[in-house]
Amino acid sequence: MLKITNLSAHYGAAQALFDVDLEMAGGETLALVGANGAGKSTLLKSIMGLVRPSAGQILLEGRDVTASSPAQMVRRGLALSPEGREVFAELSVSENLALGALAQKPGKKELAIRCDEIFQRFPKLGERREQLAGTLSGGEQQMLAMGRALMARPKLLLLDEPSLGLAPLICDEIFAIIHQLARAGTSILLVEQNAARALSAADNAYLLANGRVVEKGASCDLLGDPVLRAAFLGSATDDNPAASRLGAAGLTNIRLEKPAMHQQNFIPDFPSQEALQKHQLDGLQWTVRHVFEGSGFYRTRLDEAGITPDDIHSLADLQRLPFTTADDLRAGYPFPLRSVPFEQIVRVHASSGTTGKRKVLCYTQKDLDDWTDFFARCYQMAGVTPLDRVQIAVGYGVWTAGMGFQLGCEKIGALAVPVGPGNIDMQIQFLLDFQSTVFCSTASMALLMAEEIHRRGVADKIAVNKIIYGSERSSRSMRQKISELFGGAELFDITGLTELYGPGTGIECREHDCIHYWGDYYILEILDPETLQPVPEGEWGEMVITSLAKEGAPLIRYRTRDITRIIPGRCACGSPLPRHSRIKGRSDDTIKFRGVNIYPSSIDTILSAVPGLGSEYQIHLTRKESSGRDNMRLVVERAEAVTDNRSAELIHEAGHQIKKQLMVSVEIELVGYGELPRSERKSQRVFDTRIQDEIV
Ligand code: ZN
Repeated sequence: MLKITNLSAHYGAAQALFDVDLEMAGGETLALVGANGAGKSTLLKSIMGLVRPSAGQILLEGRDVTASSPAQMVRRGLALSPEGREVFAELSVSENLALGALAQKPGKKELAIRCDEIFQRFPKLGERREQLAGTLSGGEQQMLAMGRALMARPKLLLLDEPSLGLAPLICDEIFAIIHQLARAGTSILLVEQNAARALSAADNAYLLANGRVVEKGASCDLLGDPVLRAAFLGSATDDNPAASRLGAAGLTNIRLEKPAMHQQNFIPDFPSQEALQKHQLDGLQWTVRHVFEGSGFYRTRLDEAGITPDDIHSLADLQRLPFTTADDLRAGYPFPLRSVPFEQIVRVHASSGTTGKRKVLCYTQKDLDDWTDFFARCYQMAGVTPLDRVQIAVGYGVWTAGMGFQLGCEKIGALAVPVGPGNIDMQIQFLLDFQSTVFCSTASMALLMAEEIHRRGVADKIAVNKIIYGSERSSRSMRQKISELFGGAELFDITGLTELYGPGTGIECREHDCIHYWGDYYILEILDPETLQPVPEGEWGEMVITSLAKEGAPLIRYRTRDITRIIPGRCACGSPLPRHSRIKGRSDDTIKFRGVNIYPSSIDTILSAVPGLGSEYQIHLTRKESSGRDNMRLVVERAEAVTDNRSAELIHEAGHQIKKQLMVSVEIELVGYGELPRSERKSQRVFDTRIQDEIV
């Protein structure tokens, strides 16, 4: 869209710009930030043709426009909303707007159409269309200046200090409109003294000081950099754009006040692979000693294997340790793997499952603190900053999901909107009213929301730019669709399991081709699920986990049954943290259905308890492309000699029992006895066609 090279500008003898290079893509929102007198406005004016550069070149869509006049620039698709608004006080709102289209000489009808568009975008201007501009409030004048610039239907909109002199509430409104314009596809070059605001509204930013570009990059990176923050964003630390809006909505249970904005760094830096391995060995030695001394279960297992804590000398000794499985957790119900006295346990969480089969895990305060820290790391990795508003649409309660998303969000200093799952109407209302920028849910919930947003035609009115989703596999096409319908949001797959704290034990980075996992909190082995021997590096296998710092319920070689592979080498994103592929599937036949883990054997148990049903059944899992909803259909044989006239009653009873015990709704189809195929070997019962395309 715009390319500037070696641009210099003078005011008389004083040089205002020095060799400025700048690039901006179409559809991008780019912020120019810096202190007063840094050269931001001069740069904007040079682009617009209001200041003639003394050296350098400006290319607009590849065309040299360096010495063009402002009128020429308007014809080429630029429009400026100037600092100080500069509306014509003695002209009406409509007349001011008409001036914006002057260079293009539109007919009367065309002019009316464009005015109507502006009034739709700025309803307040519509209400005051015949009022003199001089009688408008500061915020309305700013809207008028922006509306006037938009009358030219610019390819590139230049905004000079749109929030200058406006009350915070009005700023919120102006920035919400800037955001909507950006989502509608307008390229925006934004000059703003309020750096935090500008960065939160922009994709990328250039920092100027004394007429020079001193830093450039993705806005979230600049916001997260403590040195830059201190140097350039100092004045914005008290900014809390969310407060007024939430206050107005009467939301007292959401934290309104925020301390001075500061973002800790949660991403560790291990200078070398050896440094990480040293850390892991320390953690492994500590863990083995901790469970040996604290857990009856582990003590027995270690004794059986003939291992004492003193036997762990290197990471290779990990392979001598016994495995732990989900069955061990169930057998130890209600407090399996507990390795500290009860007075140190501060919380339990549980996974879903039938009664008595839930996996329950104990947490000490340190476990919760660790979890919070590395969940904050997930947000940081996804580029979430204290200026974000995170709408959390996952389950709260005894499940780990909601708590994890919540704690991490607060830790990073972003504003949490804890809605919980479902409740589509409320979700959409909050997306619109709070202008949430991050949406957290399962993949199918994200798709459901995406389609609802599309159906209601509000994609350009919401502010979501990131979606963090987990707990389900997702196909490439599903991801694409979610992103598209959410107006181009960036997707991040987050991993985790209840046994290992909960969600947040790894996340996709901005390169989007791997999951970084927290090698400083756990060791990940990839084993052949049959032989339980390590597979060669880079090959697929079962993920087996050993925790390094967990106190309440540590994991020693816990078999997750998830299938993935280690991706060797360092990621292009620069993070030193190790990585694996997205989870490809499960090594046992557990079904993941609408976020719930279901064992086919539990369906077996339920069906066999309904008199009149046979023992043969099939489970068909499909995903409706249109709604993203997963569907489960059970095809069940009637028992021998049971006739079709009992089918309705049997279907009702089986459906009722499954709903009651597994809390999912399924479709049931009955067939006659002997109609399903039999096999001498284990017959295939599960037919899962939900994910068809390749997973990275
Ligand atoms: Zn990466």
